Amino acid sequence: MAMTRRELLAASAAIAVAPVPGRAWGAPLPREVDIVVIGAGAAGVAAARRIQAANRKVVVVEAAGQIGGRCLTDTAAFDVPFDRGARWMHNPEINPMVRLGRIAGLDFSAAPLGQKIRIGQRNARAGETEEFLAALVRANRAIDDASRGKADVACASVLPKDLGDWAGTAEFVLGASAFGKDLGDISAMDKARAQDRNPAIGCRQGLGSLIARLGEQVPLALATPASRISWSGRDVAVETPAGKIAARAAVVTVSSNVLAAGNIRFTPEIPKRQLDAAAKLSLGSYDRIAVQLPGNPLGLARDDVIIEQSKSTRTALLTANIWGSSLCTIDVAGSFGRDLSGQGEKAMIAFAVEWLTRLFGSDVAAAVRKSSATRWNASPFTLGAMSVALPGGQPSRKILTEPIGSVFLAGEATHETLWGTVDGAWESGERAAEAALRKIGALSDSIAAPSRAPKQRRRGAQRTGAPVN
Ligand SMILES: Cc1cc2nc3c(=O)[nH]c(=O)nc-3n(C[C@H](O)[C@H](O)[C@H](O)COP(=O)(O)OP(=O)(O)OC[C@H]3O[C@@H](n4cnc5c(N)ncnc54)[C@H](O)[C@@H]3O)c2cc1C
Repeated sequence: MAMTRRELLAASAAIAVAPVPGRAWGAPLPREVDIVVIGAGAAGVAAARRIQAANRKVVVVEAAGQIGGRCLTDTAAFDVPFDRGARWMHNPEINPMVRLGRIAGLDFSAAPLGQKIRIGQRNARAGETEEFLAALVRANRAIDDASRGKADVACASVLPKDLGDWAGTAEFVLGASAFGKDLGDISAMDKARAQDRNPAIGCRQGLGSLIARLGEQVPLALATPASRISWSGRDVAVETPAGKIAARAAVVTVSSNVLAAGNIRFTPEIPKRQLDAAAKLSLGSYDRIAVQLPGNPLGLARDDVIIEQSKSTRTALLTANIWGSSLCTIDVAGSFGRDLSGQGEKAMIAFAVEWLTRLFGSDVAAAVRKSSATRWNASPFTLGAMSVALPGGQPSRKILTEPIGSVFLAGEATHETLWGTVDGAWESGERAAEAALRKIGALSDSIAAPSRAPKQRRRGAQRTGAPVN
């Protein structure tokens, strides 16, 4: 995908985001470093920090005009920070980003536990909520059981047939809402291997602001896309519109969709094995429609999370009164979300208002002040939301971590159990940086990572409860 510099800047400046360090293109790029990192999302920032900690010379080249990738905080649209991408991190006690963010003076707060359910215009009764939770447990158990079989199958194919009125809601909660794809497009093995993502924790200043803060000391060139990586020899060369960088190794953190789309050329070609793996770990669709609703017309509490009993996938997840403000977000995902976001921001906002009106009554439309919607599938440097393996695709995660000469892939899609998360992206960046440092002889096996969280015992798939996204 050839883009002019003007197009590039237009694409990345389309939204005002958290202030970032001013090391944009214009400052001369170094000609030579030890390791070059492609992409300044969570994985790229973690990788660069790890390389710096080993006292090696690093530069991060980032295609967009800001740091953060899929962690993107919009500080201009509303009177509170609006996380256009990731909102929650997980496992707060051992999460290095939370620890580092606290040191940097940022504020964190636990995500609400669980969702409330609407049935038409009333709240579900306790007995109905219990029925739904029981349906979720049975659906999860069926997927776990299927994941232990020989062949990997689609989650949808093994769902109990008697989920009754809760079938649509269970499909939404376990599929589109959790991972961005419908259960028919999700590998049972991948889902079953997903590490428990509870409890979740958010950053009041926004996750994009957090990643920007953690990347402040990293040498970084914004609006500087890598166009080609040559990796035939012992070293690598990365071409950008601002010049060529020679390095002894590279860490590539672009999303699986960006990799599979061939937006970065490789010389020689990237092995088909890795390209196929990226395609099997394609990104799901997950978008957020934000509306400002002053006066709390929905009558909800701070950070209430609402889903509805739904017969179809044409549904959404509401987070109300975020951090006690009048900002509410309506998240749409999976095949329905993909179709809707393809129709553009106006159609997305119209859906959100219609959906809220159906659940909360006719006052909603008149109450909406400002609104904004994300369209991650159309975002040229991401091309989607989060990876989840297609049926049969789970082994692809390991394949993506195999070195390509002196090039090491990182990013959420390369994490075996925390795929699709910021935590997984961060850990993958550290892992790839260590592999690259080892390759160039800058790290011996006995030196451990500085901020790597202790390995967690693998638990079952996410059950119910706190939202992942
Ligand atoms: C709407 C939404 C909600 C989400 N909610 C959550 C959540 O609540 N919790 C959670 O854990 N996860 C969530 N996720 C997923 C999470 O955001 C991602 O898993 C994580 O941020 C991925 O980080 P990464 O570093 O792997 O990739 P990215 O953040 O995509 O970083 C890759 C970087 O590479 C850059 N790049 C692309 N092409 C080039 C090039 N040619 N040259 C240089 N740079 C390039 C991109 O601009 C980008 O900055 C959500 C995602 C979305 C979209």
